[in-house]
Amino acid sequence: MKRILSLVLMVVLLLSGFSLVPPARAAEGQKLLAITFDDGPGGYTEWLLDGLKDRGVKVTFFMIGNRVEGYADLVERAYREGHQVANHSWSHPELTTQSDSTVTQQVTQTRQALDAICGSGTTYLFRAPYGSTNEHIRSLIGMPLIQWNLDTRDWESRDTTAVKNMMLNYAQDGSIILLHDIHATSVSGALEAIDELLLQGYEFVTVNELFRRRGVALTEGELHYSCPPNGTDLGPITAPVMTSAVTDGQLYITMSAQEGAEIYYTTDGSFPNQESHHYTGTFPIESPCTITAVAAYNLNGSRSEPVVQTIDTPTAQSPVIRIDDGVLSLSTTTPQATIHYTLDGNRATIHSPEYTGPITLRSGALISATAIAEGHLACSPVNGYYTKRGNFFRDVYPGRWYTDAVDLAVAGKFLSGGSDGFFSPCAPVTRGEAVKLLYDYAQIQRDGIPPAPFTDVPQDSSLFPALSWAYDTGLVTGYGGELFLPNHPISRQELAQILSRYLAYRSKILPERSGDLSRFADAGEISPWAAPYVEDMVSTGILLGDELGGFQPKYAVTRAQMATILIRLETIEPTLPGAEL
Ligand code: ZN
Repeated sequence: MKRILSLVLMVVLLLSGFSLVPPARAAEGQKLLAITFDDGPGGYTEWLLDGLKDRGVKVTFFMIGNRVEGYADLVERAYREGHQVANHSWSHPELTTQSDSTVTQQVTQTRQALDAICGSGTTYLFRAPYGSTNEHIRSLIGMPLIQWNLDTRDWESRDTTAVKNMMLNYAQDGSIILLHDIHATSVSGALEAIDELLLQGYEFVTVNELFRRRGVALTEGELHYSCPPNGTDLGPITAPVMTSAVTDGQLYITMSAQEGAEIYYTTDGSFPNQESHHYTGTFPIESPCTITAVAAYNLNGSRSEPVVQTIDTPTAQSPVIRIDDGVLSLSTTTPQATIHYTLDGNRATIHSPEYTGPITLRSGALISATAIAEGHLACSPVNGYYTKRGNFFRDVYPGRWYTDAVDLAVAGKFLSGGSDGFFSPCAPVTRGEAVKLLYDYAQIQRDGIPPAPFTDVPQDSSLFPALSWAYDTGLVTGYGGELFLPNHPISRQELAQILSRYLAYRSKILPERSGDLSRFADAGEISPWAAPYVEDMVSTGILLGDELGGFQPKYAVTRAQMATILIRLETIEPTLPGAEL
């Protein structure tokens, strides 16, 4: 059965603070300006970024490499907010006076510092310090070189009004404007001018966008001063369209973008960069997830606003397995769901046979079941084992060292099967549980047992009769005569002591002690008080070592071990000489 569904998605468009509606494009194309800020990042860059964000304006930052690391958060923010991050050398020397290797190093070191933030392989523009180059230097740099056609002389005037007036008086459609974000007056003057120029219908774009929109190539090794209107405006880049669909219980994402644009995306909520996933076609994804995608011609400077979608597709409720007298029934609370199952050990998928009604099981069946419903993801299959003795376990499977003992112990009611089929074979047995299990195993029916004196086991607890019996018969003595610590895991050597005393209580005669436990690699770990009891249990075969030759005396006894021990006790105890009670 195949279902292809469109989901209603929560769509969050990250609008980076458009407080001004972008002016309508003129018939001959939008009036564009590219403002560039050099020599930062610095102490005024954050203020500038706030001001640009408020106005929905994108600019280009020609950064000094040795300042990048100290302002990494601002560089990342500028990149994330759609500004263009560009290279202005490592330490601002006049390149025409430097050796070739110094020029290359100035460029490369800055590229590496920016790559650490924008992702390896990001494309950058370059501006030479003082705009000073020659043909040889330009060939060494290997990037488009960006000059300007409007120098605000902000570094000279250091005056807000002067900076503003330079921009208002001389900006022309297609200008590249030179400013420096290391002067407060440059930031304030630029923001004031931007407000007026926006009212005049200008749109502020990155250098990359100025040229792309007018269909003019930026060429490596060449100087670019401006990009006057030429009748072409390709317009801003539209955000990618993202759709999700569930097919066969699996969630898939499909995206599309305008012609020629690449889509970059992340699935962890981070902002896409050059190292993020590059969309090549519909892909499967887990739910829930958050996908952030942008369409780009150049991720650094020519990209759309991001699209962010948080997807949380419901999953069909896992089937509930019920077995009554060997008859299996499966159910799920998800409306309209179908259940699919296998009984041969293969993992159920939505292609497995569909469940239509109760099924009589053969013993040893390995059950797997899954559910699917329209608009839902397929649930993880529920798996379980219907044993030879009619038990059902979800965490005990054929072939484990303890499987048969657990099956026997649960069938013989020496141990509970656990809740919902989970036996928890690796869970530790507590001291209280061990005493209770032995009490139930021995089927003690005696009245008039004096109450145990432990202060940490209340008289009305279910453990109390068992503990009173164990104390009265000398199986346990507790700690300091007052505490029993019923909730502490019982160690293997503690259990050996209790079992040895139990067999003595049952007047069973144990083999002679040799006093030699050296066969165990960890014999030195066995406490001296416990050594005789460990020997008793080893000699009767009730406790064995592990496959590596150790006894692990201080390890907690697990439920799987306890099942095995009780079954061995049941097998061995009747064969030991001694009177039955
Ligand atoms: Zn500079």
